[in-house]
Amino acid sequence: MTSAEATAHYFKKAARIMDVGERIETLLAAPLREVKVQVSIELDNGEIRTFNGYRVQHDNARGPMKGGLRYHPLVDADETLSLASLMTWKTAVVNLPYGGAKGGICVDPTGLSSKELERLTRKFVDQIQDIIGPTRDIPAPDVNTNPQVMAWIMDQYSKYHGHSPAVVTGKPIDLYGSRGREAATGRGLLYIAREIARDVGLPVKGTRFAIQGFGNVGSHAARLIHEDGGIIVAVNDVNGGVKNPKGLDVPALFDHARKTGSVKGFNGGSPCGTEELLTCDCDVLIPAAMGGVLTKSVAAEVRAKIVLEGANAPCTPEADEVFEKRGVLVVPDILANAGGVTVSYFEWVQNLQHVTWDEDRVTTELEKLMREAYERVANISRTRKLPLRTSAYVLAIGRVGKATVLRGI
Ligand code: NAD
Repeated sequence: MTSAEATAHYFKKAARIMDVGERIETLLAAPLREVKVQVSIELDNGEIRTFNGYRVQHDNARGPMKGGLRYHPLVDADETLSLASLMTWKTAVVNLPYGGAKGGICVDPTGLSSKELERLTRKFVDQIQDIIGPTRDIPAPDVNTNPQVMAWIMDQYSKYHGHSPAVVTGKPIDLYGSRGREAATGRGLLYIAREIARDVGLPVKGTRFAIQGFGNVGSHAARLIHEDGGIIVAVNDVNGGVKNPKGLDVPALFDHARKTGSVKGFNGGSPCGTEELLTCDCDVLIPAAMGGVLTKSVAAEVRAKIVLEGANAPCTPEADEVFEKRGVLVVPDILANAGGVTVSYFEWVQNLQHVTWDEDRVTTELEKLMREAYERVANISRTRKLPLRTSAYVLAIGRVGKATVLRGI
């Protein structure tokens, strides 16, 4: 099953349970627009290289489309479509006035200099500037893109359309970014972990977490969960991992990662491979790296009682079924990792109103929206006896479906 087929599978499963009918199902399933561009740049050595860039705009019934930009060698049209549709459902689950989009460039950015990366980003904006915008489609950071990349996007777009900070979120604080955006997805994961704790009687304090990925999402989740009393027993990144059943010294791990660029080689534990991390002895597993890592065979070996999806689409549908049969509670991406897009929304609101919120306001509002979303999803799950993922889709499809019909077909 491809990534797009996998998200379509979850959508269809919920749509059939809701009995939305073939007409609405057809309307909601197809993306509005799929754009592929060739981004050619001059490398520092004078050579010309061309990269494929994508922007998929899935749905705008509830508002301008919103979704990250990923720079990774595995970016393609299928994966971008899958991630764009996830954004439609995610923004609806947290009740943000947005639709869904996603984009990316098929590139290994670690092989490019900062100047090359800037040229690539600006050239990409040249090619999509007519389809994005503060009231159309607002990009944000995702895998291998960061506040600096967002700053270049804002600058390049503004050359065409005038000063436009609200065209992109996840910008640096010094350039219209929002306080609390950098840690928002990790913080949202913590808030959802606290809600789950209340429901299943597993308080964050003293609970053992394993986290795959130590980038924006994984590292902030590790820091905030550790500060809340959670025990981080294993982490990894693309270079390697480290485990310690007694709990890793998270501040020291941050120091090590800052100095070396990886968690690999941290001397406060022993080395830990990817599969070992995913199946290690822990209570909560947080995949926070790439999609599709929890396959059917890995899912059968996972020892965690709860899977909190920090990454987008980390579970294949086959793995999802295995978890359901085994009674492993899966908290779906469209709920668990929605903290990032929620604070992106706060950033957009601040930009449009020319105001700045303090961090307390950001975190208070974030907690409120995440708790409300969790409550709604958990309530559907309880009353209709559905898994959390299907319940989240039921909530989202209901909201997007209503907006679609009200606007007129
Ligand atoms: P990032 O680029 O900041 O970090 C990615 C991390 O994953 C890095 O530590 C990298 O080394 C690691 N990684 C990559 N391949 C790996 C592998 N095979 N095994 C182990 N680790 C690996 O990206 P991010 O923004 O943290 O995004 C991570 C995931 O979270 C993605 O699925 C993304 O779509 C999702 N997400 C991100 C945000 C956000 O606000 N950044 C919001 C919602 C969801």
